[in-house]
Amino acid sequence: MSVAGGKGLSLAARLYKSRALGLTLGFVCVAAGMYPFHPSGWVWALMIANGFIWPHLAYQWSLRSSNSLRAETRNLLFDSFCGGFWVGAMHFNPLPSVTTLSMMTMNNVAIGGPRFMLAGWVAQALGVGVSMLVFTPAFIAVTSEAQLYACLPILMLYPLVLGWICYRQTITLSRHKRELLALSRTDSLSGLLNHGAWKDHLEIEFQRCRRGQQGAAIALIDIDHFKAINDTYGHVTGDIVLRQLSKVLRQNLRATDLAGRYGGDEFCVILPDMPLGRATEVMDALRDRFNCLGYAQDPTLRASLSIGLAPYQASHSDAISWLNDADQALYEAKSSGRNRVSSVLGSWLKSV
Ligand code: GH3
Ligand code: MG
Repeated sequence: MSVAGGKGLSLAARLYKSRALGLTLGFVCVAAGMYPFHPSGWVWALMIANGFIWPHLAYQWSLRSSNSLRAETRNLLFDSFCGGFWVGAMHFNPLPSVTTLSMMTMNNVAIGGPRFMLAGWVAQALGVGVSMLVFTPAFIAVTSEAQLYACLPILMLYPLVLGWICYRQTITLSRHKRELLALSRTDSLSGLLNHGAWKDHLEIEFQRCRRGQQGAAIALIDIDHFKAINDTYGHVTGDIVLRQLSKVLRQNLRATDLAGRYGGDEFCVILPDMPLGRATEVMDALRDRFNCLGYAQDPTLRASLSIGLAPYQASHSDAISWLNDADQALYEAKSSGRNRVSSVLGSWLKSV
């Protein structure tokens, strides 16, 4: 089904009930406006057809159309045309006329915005023109008490229903927006934060540490010889190893820690309010867990991790220099034999 078809069908389904309700209530209003003129049989038949048969015909027409959106647009303009027609037929009786025209305008602007509202006005004007030819109405500027009461149901109920529909759409839209935002910040393979989202958190954490509110450590985690795993066991198994690492991260970190996938086989973690000694213990435990994992795909498969740790230091000029420290520590872990945790402070201590 085309996008226009799908959007149109859901619009048609939404409009079916509101059109059926609006035209039923509108019938009461128009019938009261027409009654004093003793309309002939065919006019009553037309009123009944418009109020009670047209909503179902319009719906079926939309369902059967190859482009439901266009069909529904046409239906709405026909609604407006009929509204204008009945206004002329009622000899412009003020309250039923204004009620009919304004309810339709409200409907049109809610569905199609200002441009569609203008199109609706043109259709209403056409409807008025045709009814002037048919009925040659005079302007009767009096609304009786009975006509006033006949307008009340549509005046009270229709805005309520339309407001409710708009409210529900707003709720659905904001839920979709939240879901899209979450998706745009999530790495699809691991379900962890993606590169950009993690970097945003790093910047926030850096600013918090800078204000002296707390210390923190960051870790860069890289799978050892991951390319060989891909080459030996295949990329599908490589993906499983990446997912296993994200699972180990989720299971072994605190709820306040922020884990992300930096890219490829490299992961990243922010450990807020954690001194370097404790961070080293946590990362070592995590490395051990990952080493011990078995893989159903191939029992011989084993993977290890190299981890670079960097605590926040007041000398860091920005978040990037903090990240560079972690990168340097990771390099140290790789170059000193892999499958280990290194930290910038650790390498600094060794050099003095
Ligand atoms: P080292 O021990 O030095 O880290 O070696 P390595 O082989 O792990 O390092 P390298 O960076 O050369 O390899 C990373 C590989 O990860 C290369 C790339 O093909 C693979 N890779 C990147 N993204 C994905 C992914 O989403 N799935 C899979 N299966 N492989 C990926
Ligand atoms: Mg690697």
